[in-house]
Amino acid sequence: MHTTASDGRSTPSQLVDEVVAMGITTMAVVDHDTTAGWDEVSAAAAVAGVACMPGIEITAVDHGRDVHMLGYCFDRNYPELVTFLSTQREDRTRRLREIGDRLARLGVPVDLQGAMAEAARSAGRAMGRPMAAAALVAAGHVASIREAFDRYLAEGRPAFIERQGAQPAAVVALVARAGGVTSLAHPGKTQKDHLIPDLVAAGLPAIEVYHPEHDAAETARYRQMADTFNLLVTGGSDYHGVGSGRSQGLGQFYLPAADFTRLAERTGWTIPC
Ligand code: AMP
Ligand code: ZN
Repeated sequence: MHTTASDGRSTPSQLVDEVVAMGITTMAVVDHDTTAGWDEVSAAAAVAGVACMPGIEITAVDHGRDVHMLGYCFDRNYPELVTFLSTQREDRTRRLREIGDRLARLGVPVDLQGAMAEAARSAGRAMGRPMAAAALVAAGHVASIREAFDRYLAEGRPAFIERQGAQPAAVVALVARAGGVTSLAHPGKTQKDHLIPDLVAAGLPAIEVYHPEHDAAETARYRQMADTFNLLVTGGSDYHGVGSGRSQGLGQFYLPAADFTRLAERTGWTIPC
C-alpha cells in the first residue's frame, strides 16, 4: 500500500484507519523510492494492533522502461541505500518538472509548481506522475487521473519523460546488501516476464503474484513460475487511496497467509521490524 509519503492519498495514520475498517490485520507499506512513511505507519499500526511489514517500491530502469522492484525489511539507514534513494527522488523531481514543461508545449499547461513546493516541504517525500495527472484534472484538460495517463503521461504518450535509474539487478543487490528481500512487482501489469530468468540468476528472491491487475490466468502463471524458479511469492492491493484511480483492491487482493509466513521467515521480520 502507498501513503502520502509518495503517491498515495492517505496519510500513514489514515491508511491504518482504513485498514482497520476493512478488518485487515497485517499490512505492508511500499511507498515509491522512500521510507518516509515508516515511522508514522508503524506507530499507528502498533496502536491499532495491526502487524506492519515495512517496505518500499523502487523504480529501476531497463532499456528506458520502468521496472518496479518491491523491497522488504531492509535497513533504512544503510548509507549506500540512503544515498541511492535520495538520488531517485531528485530524479523524480527533475522528471516532473520536465513533464510540466512538456505539457505546456503540448498546449495543456498545468500548475505543478504549488504542488511540488508543498511536497518539497515534507522530508523524504517522493514526487511522481500522479501529481501531473491531478494537475491535468484540476486544469480541466482531462476528466480523470486515468485519462491523464492514457492521453499524456503513460509510456509512449506525448508527455512521457524517461527517467534515469539503476538496472533491476543492481536494485536486487543493493537491497540485499541492506539486509532486505526484493520482489519483482506486478510483472503481468508491466510485461516483464522476459527479465525474470536473468533477475533470478542475479539473486532475485521473489515475484509479486497477487495484484489487482493480474487476472486469474496471470496469477496462476506467476504462481507456477515462482515454483519453477523456487521464488518466494508476494502480493497485495497496491492501494493508493480513495480518488487515486487505484483504490479497488484493498482487502480483495492479498498475500495468502502461508506465503506471508515464508516471506516473514526469509526477511527475519519481527514486529516492529
Ligand atoms: P511515477 O512513479 O512517476 O512513475 O508514476 C507511476 C505511478 O503512477 C504508479 O505507481 C501509479 O501510482 C500511477 N499510475 C500509473 N499509471 C496509472 C493510471 N493509468 N491510472 C492511475 N494511476 C496510474
Ligand atoms: Zn504508486
